[in-house]
Amino acid sequence: MTQAIPHAGGRLRNFIGGAFRDSEHTFANINPVDGSEINRVCRASRSDVDGAVDAARQALQGDWGTMSAAQRAVVLHRVADGIEARFDEFVAAEMADTGKSLQQASSIDIPRGAANFRIFADLQKSRATECFHTATDDGRGALNYAVDKPLGVVAVIAPWNLPLLLLTWKLAPAMAAGNAVIAKPSEETPATATLLAEVMRDAGVPAGAFNLVHGFGPGCTGEWITSHSGVDAITFTGESKTGSAIMRAAADGVKPISFELGGKNAALIFADCDFDAAVEGTARSVFTNGGQVCLCTERVYVERKIFPQFVAALKQKAEALNIGWPQDADTDMGPLISHKHRDKVLSFFSSARADGAEVITGGDIPKFNDTRDSGAFVQPTIFTGLPETADIVRKEVFGPVCHIAPFDSEEEAIQLANNTDYGLAATVWTDNLQRAHRVAGVMDVGIAWVNTWYLRDLRTPFGGVKLSGIGREGGAHSLSFYSEPMNICIKL
Ligand code: NAD
Repeated sequence: MTQAIPHAGGRLRNFIGGAFRDSEHTFANINPVDGSEINRVCRASRSDVDGAVDAARQALQGDWGTMSAAQRAVVLHRVADGIEARFDEFVAAEMADTGKSLQQASSIDIPRGAANFRIFADLQKSRATECFHTATDDGRGALNYAVDKPLGVVAVIAPWNLPLLLLTWKLAPAMAAGNAVIAKPSEETPATATLLAEVMRDAGVPAGAFNLVHGFGPGCTGEWITSHSGVDAITFTGESKTGSAIMRAAADGVKPISFELGGKNAALIFADCDFDAAVEGTARSVFTNGGQVCLCTERVYVERKIFPQFVAALKQKAEALNIGWPQDADTDMGPLISHKHRDKVLSFFSSARADGAEVITGGDIPKFNDTRDSGAFVQPTIFTGLPETADIVRKEVFGPVCHIAPFDSEEEAIQLANNTDYGLAATVWTDNLQRAHRVAGVMDVGIAWVNTWYLRDLRTPFGGVKLSGIGREGGAHSLSFYSEPMNICIKL
């Protein structure tokens, strides 16, 4: 990977009304591989947020608001083309901000960022509306049909774990449906969103249809957006407790919200599974992106008769992971997003030990004897032996760690998997067809995988139950959230 980090040593600016804007206050954008500063980020002021809302409103009254879905689709395909044309820059920026591996950034994050625009542009173009012929007493009837209108100005608030992928997962359907958007990436990962603003400008997206404001959450940019009277709807991905705060901010304006929140996902491994596939898939589901994917498994339950062999095999996989420089082709895992997040993950490790956990592997900081020792790395970690009440079994850690425990019956496995405040995803490993359907169907989650993990079809409903979210996005579900159906009734 020879691509220089875009904007390194410079400033990442806000993008409002079609133009980049500097600001008085900046904050540091840190590379978690070695703790170095990559660039300065312009923190949006309250008046920048007001400016973004005004620009979005004007776009809805102007060129963007008068475009057909087909015309918007042409523009959004140009945005996807623009991401692909600057693919290496996007990959370099995402790796520098997050420390994720080249392999992951170039095969998942950035391709999905471009794909989101294509998929939702095309879906919206071919979207049907309802139409009914309604009987009337005079025999002439009435035509009742629905038209979908944009919600207006949509705030898109994104997390740091899959920065471009998750931002565009919401921006693309919101824009395809005709809304004007205000995007706020995580303060930890401002770079690819800034590149995206350049792509939007160069693709001819009308001024104000896409606005970008940088900054923090509480008492800052995030809160100013979500409590702004000129914002019509909020779509958010992040922690469950942030979701509660945003919900309170949205309550005043009775704004529609769509929330994709935290998870504490279980994997159930039955003795009748394909053992090697289950070990491989579970290792992937625990350690991908350093465990920093909302869908990652943090609780592994294994049928007792294969428990010792499974623990040994998962340990071997964890210890074989190559932790290191993101740009090396054979790197499996980079650092965590920040030192602050590493402190949080390490405090879970300490509490697990204090609760009496047995450490199967890891539990510490790796030693490199180079600049990576200033980075935010932790070892892939497996604990066992804790009661279900232990913090590390109940709370989302969001790191490369799982707790593994045995079960004796299908009923017990189901009870353990569902005994959580979260409800995002579950994974079931079995070669028994009836059991696969039976167990997957009673998982109290938004998505259950059988004999695979993270196999996504973007047309399917995506979201969580309980603390894991509100609403569904994906395919037609996204377009339905980002538009308001209106009924028109014509007496014939
Ligand atoms: P976070 O909640 O700390 O921050 C997410 C975004 O919200 C950031 O842009 C942040 O600045 C902003 N924010 C924070 N407080 C705010 C406030 N009071 N008002 C407005 N905005 C505010 O989450 P994170 O640490 O960036 O991301 C990790 C979390 O995201 C994990 O809990 C993970 O499970 C979750 N996540 C969920 C999904 C999903 O699809 N369900 C996907 C990815 C990540």
